[in-house]
Amino acid sequence: MKQMFIGGRWLSAHDGRVLPVVSPADGEVFDQIPRGSAREIDEAVAAARAATEGAWGRLNGTERGRILMRIGEAVLAHEEELAQIEARDTGKPMSTARNDIKVLARYFEFYGAAADKVHGETIPFLSGHQVSLLREPLGVTAHIIPWNYPAQMLGRSLAPALAMGNATVLKPAEDTSLSALRFAAIATEAGLPEGALNVVTGLGEEVGAALAGHPGIDFISFTGSNEVGTLVQQAAARNAVKCVLELGGKSPQIVFDDVDAARAAPIIVRAIVQNAGQTCTAGSRLLVQRSIYDRFVGQVAELFAQVRVGTPQMDFDCGPVMNAAQRDRVQRYIDQARASGIPVLAEGRIAPEAPVTGYYVKPTLFGPVPRQDPLAREEVFGPVLAAMPFDDEADAIRLANGTDYGLLAAVWTENAGRLQRVAKAVKAGQVFMNCYGAGGGVELPFGGTKRSGHGREKGLLALEEVSATKTLVHYHG
Ligand code: NAP
Ligand code: MG
Repeated sequence: MKQMFIGGRWLSAHDGRVLPVVSPADGEVFDQIPRGSAREIDEAVAAARAATEGAWGRLNGTERGRILMRIGEAVLAHEEELAQIEARDTGKPMSTARNDIKVLARYFEFYGAAADKVHGETIPFLSGHQVSLLREPLGVTAHIIPWNYPAQMLGRSLAPALAMGNATVLKPAEDTSLSALRFAAIATEAGLPEGALNVVTGLGEEVGAALAGHPGIDFISFTGSNEVGTLVQQAAARNAVKCVLELGGKSPQIVFDDVDAARAAPIIVRAIVQNAGQTCTAGSRLLVQRSIYDRFVGQVAELFAQVRVGTPQMDFDCGPVMNAAQRDRVQRYIDQARASGIPVLAEGRIAPEAPVTGYYVKPTLFGPVPRQDPLAREEVFGPVLAAMPFDDEADAIRLANGTDYGLLAAVWTENAGRLQRVAKAVKAGQVFMNCYGAGGGVELPFGGTKRSGHGREKGLLALEEVSATKTLVHYHG
């Protein structure tokens, strides 16, 4: 039975309500978390405000940076423990969970090292005046994160906000709150002052909505679905609060006829089965030049058929999906595609020893998928890859840009000119050229265009999102 972390104290919900914690690997309930409410959000926002006015708010960048770097070290010292918690909570393979914890540590190292390197500017102005531009924290920042990479997401969202000196309130996904709670204890032991981080667990429509609409917050970072992202942005608008939205994707792998196929094919398979396809940046569309379509897709299919699905301990390429609703949703896409006659080119295998009560789906490669089919346009958020042929460069760009999303893209060709032209023409926040980078890369500014959201996380640009400038104009004669 876990507790929430508010103002440096561990608390149950005031009314004692709880939510079950379910293992996706076998469907069993193995723990409980508090089901918080608007009341706990009030307390958390007040504790964060007090922190900005107290010990935390008085620290300078060097001191904050030192604390963040100590948190990074402490996360690495607890890597195995955190990875076990994460794997049990999400069902993901142990090696993926271990990598996620390393990335969590990286966020604190990176932003810890950056905390004392943010500086303002001076601006030439009228004679007799001195103008300085300060960069200041926003105050209390709210962070609502999803269940697919709970540890990575909390690092991505919190570390830059803390580096700038904001105090934070985190609402983890109801399905995956355990690593955030353990992290709060580890960060506190590493020296994070009271109130700088508050973690409130519970349901999205209860605590998530209460946090997004709270008049006491100054900023919201939201990662999740388009549907909820719209609600969060409406709530932010009512309080005139800035928000960064990281929403879905339908990222294309654009493969030209001169591709280095032996290098590309395994990376392409990995980019869709990683985390059971529950990655906003999953490479879920495989666009291949028609002249090599059959040959290249055949190579991908061969590798795809070797993908194995199992429990975290089996540590295969792919674990279960998050919950029963997600399994049903992914299965519906697979069933509909089959029913509409789209050929199945390859299927992965679910280990026979995987518990039948777990939420396993068979990774599936479909192709050719008609361009208007839901599989070609909608985010499945599961290990389902849609292959489609294109004719030439112009057709590839049209097809790549033919969804509502614009998060990531990859271009595969040995022709340097084509690589640049296509990368520039594709609408996406990141474009990988002869490589792919779903997750990780804390140094690389990341975020969406179109319906994939707005604002940037990761890299030094994230520090700008969680801070504001103040212009000081001084007449000195
Ligand atoms: P979700 O339902 O939108 O949930 C995301 C977060 O919002 C969770 O913490 C959720 O809490 C909370 N929430 C739910 N209803 C809310 C409300 N009314 N007000 C405020 N918060 C609320 O998304 P998901 O199902 O967890 O994740 C899947 C989607 O997220 C996919 O579309 C995926 O592409 C996208 N995603 C995007 C990125 C990115 O970086 N761009 C990363 C990961 C996922 P509960 O869990 O308690 O409901
Ligand atoms: Mg769970």
